[in-house]
Amino acid sequence: MGDYFDRLVDTEVSLADAPLAARRVIAEFTQRGLIAASPDAAADAGNLEYQGGPALPAIYEGAETKQLKCFTFKIEIVRQFNYWAFVSVEVWLQCRACAAVMSNNRDDVAEALLACAAEWISEEGTTVLTCPQCGVGEAVDKWQLRPSLGFGNLHYAFANCPPLDDRAWRISFAELIARITGHRIEYTYGKI
Ligand SMILES: [Zn+2]
Repeated sequence: MGDYFDRLVDTEVSLADAPLAARRVIAEFTQRGLIAASPDAAADAGNLEYQGGPALPAIYEGAETKQLKCFTFKIEIVRQFNYWAFVSVEVWLQCRACAAVMSNNRDDVAEALLACAAEWISEEGTTVLTCPQCGVGEAVDKWQLRPSLGFGNLHYAFANCPPLDDRAWRISFAELIARITGHRIEYTYGKI
């Protein structure tokens, strides 16, 4: 048994611009009382971590509010994808050329996807993932993946809270971050 986690990923921001985008999100989250006013002193340098703020229980209507007591919100600025989703949940892919649907349960799909993702991180080699059905290739971060693997430079990690797509949330964190930053935000999750 591991711990489930949720992440929102800014798939458009550059590494250079990520700190500014993160500061804007932190400022609005703090103002709305979603996170504590100051970060956890124990957090790693560069990876800010916050406890939940006073408004958090009021924006969740479900029965799981006890969970929110340990809520944490962590910001990671690094070129990364959600590797843990890849190994802990079934990731579905749909080819835009032939509409074939497949998942990482297939060994050839899993190997090709992981190889391209590793190259995407290193920024070397080809990141083109070739469809095993029709042979048409497309950049790995442009494939339609469900859940998304969150290829990006700025990651918002949520822990100890109900899933972000739980209907009992009265706000959408993804929509809020998209509005603050003007960037496309992808939702991904997994289990450590
Ligand atoms: Zn195809």
